[in-house]
Amino acid sequence: MQELRRREIRIKADSVREKCKVSRYGIIDLFKECERLEYKLIRYPLGEDADLGFTLIKENDTIIFTNTSSRLSREIFTLAHEIGHVILHINKGESYIDDSITISGRSTDEKEQEANYFAACLLMPADEVEKFLDLEVADFCKQGLSAMDIARIMSEFNVSFDMALNRLENLGKVKMDERLRLDSERNQRRVGNLLRSVGGNAKLNEASEYIDIPYEYIEYVIYNFNHNAIPKETLERALECFHLTMDDISDKLVEYEEKQDDLDDLIGGLID
Ligand SMILES: [Zn+2]
Repeated sequence: MQELRRREIRIKADSVREKCKVSRYGIIDLFKECERLEYKLIRYPLGEDADLGFTLIKENDTIIFTNTSSRLSREIFTLAHEIGHVILHINKGESYIDDSITISGRSTDEKEQEANYFAACLLMPADEVEKFLDLEVADFCKQGLSAMDIARIMSEFNVSFDMALNRLENLGKVKMDERLRLDSERNQRRVGNLLRSVGGNAKLNEASEYIDIPYEYIEYVIYNFNHNAIPKETLERALECFHLTMDDISDKLVEYEEKQDDLDDLIGGLID
C-alpha cells in the first residue's frame, strides 16, 4: 500500500473516530457507535469455524454482521474492519465477507489489507499509542514492554493481544525479538490471567455469544436460510429471540417449498 493511500485511510479513520465516544485512549463501545453511524448491526453466534463478519448494502441500508462466537476483542476488530469496507470500498449491491484469512492480514487482496489498516488506525491511532507509552509505561525507553503492559493496552484500546502486538510492531515500538519474548510470556501466563492481573476486562478474551438482530432483519436471516447460507438450527435460534417458530414463517421458506416440490416430483416419478 502506498503512503499516499495510507494517509488517506488514516484521515478517514480519524474522522470516524471523532464521531465516537472515546475513554482515555480507546473507543468505549464500537457496537453502539454503529447506531450513530446509521449502520444496521447484526450480532449472532454463528460458531467458531464460521465466517467472522460481513458487510453489504441492501436497498438503502448498510448492514454489518459480526459473529459473536469469536473472542470479543476479535469481534471488535472484525467490526472495525467491516466499517473500513463501508467507508473505503462498498458500493450499492456489493458485499464483503470476512474470515480468519482476510481479518488476520494473511490475504494479499488490497482491499482486505486496506480494511485491516483502517481498523488498526481506528482502534489504535498512532498518537494515542504514543501517549499511552509515554504516560502509562514507566521506563518504556529503557525496559520496553512486559506482557502485563500489553494486557493493559488491550483493556484500554479494546483490542486482542495479537492486534496490540501487530500494531506496536508496525509503529516501530516493538522489535521482532521483543515480540517473540512477549509471545512466549503470553503463552506461559495466558491472556485471561494477564487481563485479570492488571484489573483489565477479561471478557475481551471470551466469546460473548451475544444475539442482537434488529427485528426487520429476521427477513434477512430467512433469506440466508433460503440460500443455504445458515443451517435450520441457526434460523430456529434466531426466530426464538422473537418468540417465533418455523411454522410462523413457513410461507417465507422458499427453499423448503422447493425441496418439497422436488420430493413430490421424485415420489410422483417413482409411482408413475
Ligand atoms: Zn474484509
